[in-house]
Order: sequence, then structure tokens, then C-alpha cells
Amino acid sequence: MAVASQSVLKGTGIGQGVAVGPVARMSPPPAVPAEQSSTLTPEEETARVQEAIQTVAADLTARGQAAGGQAQEVLEAQVMMAQDPTVSEAVAAQVSAGTTGEYAVHAAFGEVAETLQALGGYLGERAADLHDVAIRVIAALRGEPAPGVPDPGHPFVLVAQDLAPADTALLDLDKVLALVTIEGGPTSHTAILARGKGITAVVGAKEAAGLNDGDEVIVDAASSEVVTNPSQEQKDRAAERIAQREAAQAAPITDGALADGTEVPLLANLGNPEHAAEAVELGAEGVGLFRTEFLFLSSDSAPSVAEQRQSYQQLLEAFPGKKVVVRALDAGADKPLPFLNDAEEENPALGLRGLRALLTNEEVLRDQLTALAEADRATEADLWVMAPMVSTVEETETFAKFAHQHGLKTAGVMVEVPSSALLAEQILATADFASIGTNDLTQYTMAADRLLGSVAGLQDPWHPAVLKLVREVGVAGTRTGKPVGVCGEAAADPLLAVVLVGLGVNSLSMAPAALADVRAELLHHTKEQAQAIAEAALTASTAAEALEAARAAAASHSTE
Ligand code: PEP
Ligand code: MG
Repeated sequence: MAVASQSVLKGTGIGQGVAVGPVARMSPPPAVPAEQSSTLTPEEETARVQEAIQTVAADLTARGQAAGGQAQEVLEAQVMMAQDPTVSEAVAAQVSAGTTGEYAVHAAFGEVAETLQALGGYLGERAADLHDVAIRVIAALRGEPAPGVPDPGHPFVLVAQDLAPADTALLDLDKVLALVTIEGGPTSHTAILARGKGITAVVGAKEAAGLNDGDEVIVDAASSEVVTNPSQEQKDRAAERIAQREAAQAAPITDGALADGTEVPLLANLGNPEHAAEAVELGAEGVGLFRTEFLFLSSDSAPSVAEQRQSYQQLLEAFPGKKVVVRALDAGADKPLPFLNDAEEENPALGLRGLRALLTNEEVLRDQLTALAEADRATEADLWVMAPMVSTVEETETFAKFAHQHGLKTAGVMVEVPSSALLAEQILATADFASIGTNDLTQYTMAADRLLGSVAGLQDPWHPAVLKLVREVGVAGTRTGKPVGVCGEAAADPLLAVVLVGLGVNSLSMAPAALADVRAELLHHTKEQAQAIAEAALTASTAAEALEAARAAAASHSTE
């Protein structure tokens, strides 16, 4: 019997979803405009371009209003990019050289995108957003519709080069079973919005370029794989997992706990107070990581104390009586801020980032702590503050001193660097708590840039080297009686969450969309079983073996 050959395409999974269905590909982008002289005057070309930009801005604004929430913010940021004076000036320079509006937009937007890309990190990822605006403006100039999501008339797995935020925001989840992109990393807007909408997605799957319309695939975000030509057995297994996930999503929301009743508070990672209500709805028992960078990202100077206080207050008001952990500004490396990180650094991830940058700009830290203390006094939440990228005991002491001086009673540190994991006991002698940032802890343990696709295979928190460091912190927490949480992406992986608890972690913080899956998995294991599963993972030699060992241990212990 002939068996269609199967391949497994690797990418980066977003969330834990799994889906089975036929592929429908996004139409390719329109042809790149040729460099041609215009028959119109530069003034006429400029007017055409301005009109096309306004049309696109209106379309993006309307899509944002229809989508709401985080998608609206992303699309509004795109509108601002389209109307940015730097972009208009670059277009004007092209047009005055006598080219067509289409070519001017292509060249000018391309130039600005290149500058963003050179900055790398968060801003680098925005180059793709700008490229999408350029395509839309060029389509408007040609009087063509912008390329959009296909509609084959049945549910499908959408395969795209990369998906523009404008398309991701309005994806019809009844039709789009899953999303696979050929380009894009875990911090692209496609990934961020997919995570927010709970879409099953695998991004950056290079070989997906070879998929054709109608090909049947399994998209497995949990294992970061797309399986082509799946067998009946694989499809049945996927269907079973889909049913289990649906049951988990529909289960009543309870506080996080293991099968034996051990409490494991499930908290939310938030980057904007606007998203607090949704987190509460999904059962967040508080906030385990509030990333304050969003307040600073779009400005060229730090926001005022009053502006900051208003945002913090809005956040705290959503969680009366609950724990809310706010992280001091984490600037540098993947989150560069021009007014804090102005030095040229060869290796910014190893440079003045996180607390190091704050201690060289003390007034920024002091203003932030002042704003937090004011917001704390005005609200009922239990505010904890923590410092990012702490690598020494001295830094811990300094941060705790600053926080206490400002009247903030609970001051802790993020454990993101192997040195602080190894010295966790000494660090916890000073800090009131530790929160493990597994994204950076993995980056620094494996010496693999978290933004670099070429070393993405090493960026795996299942690696036993990372797990051993987590254990150091867990043990230190037990010895000192201080709380230890995890707020990196690892906490959102249900089985890894069980391992983390087995290693001594007391609370887990994650994107709110992940709460239901983690809540359901914890309920399947007792504390003792979680410890045995963790032990099995720790003794593995590779990340893949650790996952396998944990799966095998979990299957043998399952209390179902
Ligand atoms: C981490 O490093 O795991 C973390 C939670 O911080 P961020 O992802 O914001 O660097
Ligand atoms: Mg980090």
C-alpha cells in the first residue's frame, strides 16, 4: 500500500493549541513597483500618496475599532507609523526626484523599515508592520484591494509568509483553525496577537513555504510542529487533545491547585492596565508580572510620575486585595529605550540592561518607585515590586533599600541570570521574594540570544541545565521561607508548569489565555507526583529527553 510521505515542519509554537485541517495560503504580496519616472508633477504625486495613506489609515482604524483591545492598539500604532513625518519626508524626497508615488512609497517605507530593523529587538520586529502598511498604500495607489485572508468556503489552516496585524486582528476563528507563518518570531505582532486571541499558531516555520492549498496538516503549537500527511492515528490523537482542551476551557474557574489541594496561585502577565479586566475574567488570582515598558516604549523621555501613577493605579484597582507584582523598567537588549540605553554595546544582552540601566539612571528608578508608592497608597491591592536582570547580592540589597525607602513594603528580584539562581539563598536573605524569568534565564544559561532564529533550538526552558537552576531557587525558597514564582513563558506550558511546582515554585504567572490549560493540568498531579515528574526531567541529558521523561512520569502517575 502506498503511504504518502510525511514531514514534520518545525517552527515556534504559540500557546498549547492543536488543530487539524486543510491548508489555505494567503495570496502573495503584490508585485514590487518598478523604478519609473512619473508623468505627474511631484505635487500631484505627493497628493496621490497622501490620499492613499489616509485611505489606509482609515481602513486600519476601522479594523482596530472592530477588533478592540490589544489589536486596536497595535493597529493604531500602525496608523501612527503610516502618518509619521519621517516617512512622509522620505516619500517627498523620492517623489521630488521624479519617481511614481508607488515606487516612492516602496523605497521610502523600505528605508525607514531598514533603520528599525538595524535597531533590532522590539523595534526591529516593527519593520514588518511598516512593510505591511507600504503594501496597503501601494495597493490603494493602484486602486487594488489589499491582499487579504482567503475564503475557501470551509474551515482551514491559514499559511502565510507573515501575517499583518490588520489581518491577524480580524481573523474569523470559526473559519481559521490555526495559523502557520513562514517568517516571524515569537515577539512579532502576529505572535503577540495570536497569543492574545488564543489562536493555535506556529510561527517562523520556514519549510511551510512548500505547503499547498488543500494539503491536510496537524498544527501542534505545544510541540512547535506542523505535521503534513498525518496518519489516521495521529488525527485521532489530535482530536482527543482538542476535546480535552475544550473541556479545560469550559471547566469552572477555580483557584490554581494540585490534585492534593496544594495551592498554586495562577497569576497574569500583563503589559497594559487595559487588559486587567480580561485577566480577571479568565480567573487570574492577581498579577505575577506587570511589564512597565509599555509606558516608556513610545516616548523619548521617561513619563512623568503623575502619568505613571495613573497607569499603576488603574492596574491596582482591578485587583483589590490581590497580589500585584510590578517590575521596574526592564530596558535594554530586546527592549531598547533611547534615553536609557544610549551607549553603543557589542552585546546589549550582556550590557547595561534591566536593573543595571536603572542604577545608572537613578532618577528614572526613583520616579517609578514614587509613582508606585503613591498608587499603592490610593488602592487596596497587595503591591509587590521587583527588579529585572539582577545578577548579584549587592544589586538585590540596593534595589530592596530603594524600594523600602520609598515606602514599598515587598521588594523582590527576578532570577534571570545563572549567578542569581546559584546564589538564590543569599539573594533571598535580602529580597522578600524571587520570580524566575525563564525566558532570560534560558537565554543566559544556554548562551543563546532569545531573538535569534538561528539559535532558537537552544532557547528551550525544558533544558535540564535550566531546570537545575530553577531547582536551586526552589530549594532556596523553601530554606528561607520566601515565595518563589515563575513568570517566564515556561509557566504557560502545562506540563512544564507541573515540573516547576515539583522543583519548589509556589506560584505561576502567564499570559491570561494560558490559564485554563495550566489550571487543568495541575489538577491531575499531587505535590509528590509533581516532584517525581520534576526529578525525571532533571536527570535527562537534553531538553527533548526531559520532556519525554516528564511525559512518561506524568502518564504513570496520572490520577485520572
Ligand atoms: C523572562 O525573562 O522570563 C521574563 C518574564 O521577562 P521578559 O520576557 O520581559 O524579559
Ligand atoms: Mg526577562
